Amino acid sequence: MTLDSILKNLDPVISETLDRALSDKDISVEQGIELFDANGTEMNMILRVADELRRRTVGENVTYVINRNINFTNVCIKRCGFCAFSRDFRQEEGYFLPTEEILRRAKEAWRLGATEICIQAGLPPKMDGNLYIEICKAIKKELPDIHIHAFSPEEVLYGALRSEVSVEEYLRMLKEAGVGSLPGTAAEILDQKMRDQISPGRISAKDWIRVVKLAHSLDIPTTSTVMYGHVESSLHKAKHLEVLKEIQKGTHGFTEFVPLSFVHSEAPMYNNDNNKNNHYNGAMPNMRPGPSGNEVMKMHAVSRIMLNGYINNIQVSWVKEGARMSQLLLGAGANDFGGTLMNESISTAAGAQYGQLMKPKYLHSIIREAGRVPAQRTTLYTLIKVFGPEPRESESSLDKADPREFGSYHELIKLDKFRYRNKT
Ligand code: SF4
Repeated sequence: MTLDSILKNLDPVISETLDRALSDKDISVEQGIELFDANGTEMNMILRVADELRRRTVGENVTYVINRNINFTNVCIKRCGFCAFSRDFRQEEGYFLPTEEILRRAKEAWRLGATEICIQAGLPPKMDGNLYIEICKAIKKELPDIHIHAFSPEEVLYGALRSEVSVEEYLRMLKEAGVGSLPGTAAEILDQKMRDQISPGRISAKDWIRVVKLAHSLDIPTTSTVMYGHVESSLHKAKHLEVLKEIQKGTHGFTEFVPLSFVHSEAPMYNNDNNKNNHYNGAMPNMRPGPSGNEVMKMHAVSRIMLNGYINNIQVSWVKEGARMSQLLLGAGANDFGGTLMNESISTAAGAQYGQLMKPKYLHSIIREAGRVPAQRTTLYTLIKVFGPEPRESESSLDKADPREFGSYHELIKLDKFRYRNKT
């Protein structure tokens, strides 16, 4: 059999869809579903086309940002079914980092070359609406040049509610206090029926879209995400991508798209009798333990194919996928490796095993080995430095840091000094 005959035997629907993509034509939801459902040779061709579109649109650079994640509290009034991070305010393991500690972490990160601080947390009960504003002001006072990437649409909504101001007004206040962009988390799947199933009480699909559009209208860019590998279907995923594409057509405010695998092992909505935080009695019907390897590959590739020309940066989440899978995803349409993180609590609490720090030196070696070019960027995708093909001894002061200095999530939930109960 020749290569030509393999291509000739390709499913005609997939073949036509991939032709459209290579001609820069839009891919419909129905065509997206076909791509998500494909396997075997068809799947390999989907990956190949995604890789070609990536090459044409953003070239060979694989970008990343030096940042630190600060999840300043795990105490939360909500009970999302996929979340193993949140704790009730009465629980022993509830923690809350005071502003001085957030500032200490931010300064330490800045000294190690970070250009971004990413702040996301639980929604503590009766929170002072000014808390987010005060945190940003305190950081900006000490570190005026650091980019604050903070507060998901869910947190923005909560901050506005607690401050008794409109979402628009609250976004203005955040911007004035120093927020440079918002994480587009809390999107999961933008389908209300699905949200009611996996995270009742979570920000609605309508409100997520409203907050994001308002942020974009105020020149506050956001990222965009999907969480998949639980009970969703190909239709949900394709529709989700379509919703994001339509928002982007109107606002141009998304900087990137990040597929996030569902991490099941500690998630309350997955059957886990040992989970003390389990509010769900057993597994939901049709619940999957996260996506399979093929699903992860297709999620990234189909995202590239459906979003190309609209959202051009497709990010891999090494925290969810690990270094090896992330490297493979660079050949399936992805062009960005996210951040170095330094600390990570949310995926770690859910059972992710890939640690909380990715040193630039290691990132570079993964990227180079994939035949691509490592490049450090800002949060908003301005290139800071493009690295050559040859590894050097050390390319960032973060390479020399001892990860134990940053503390871990598992240590944090045991520390008396940051216990939420003590605070109250
Ligand atoms: S996902 Fe966020 S809002 Fe939902 S329970 Fe977890 S911390 Fe709270």
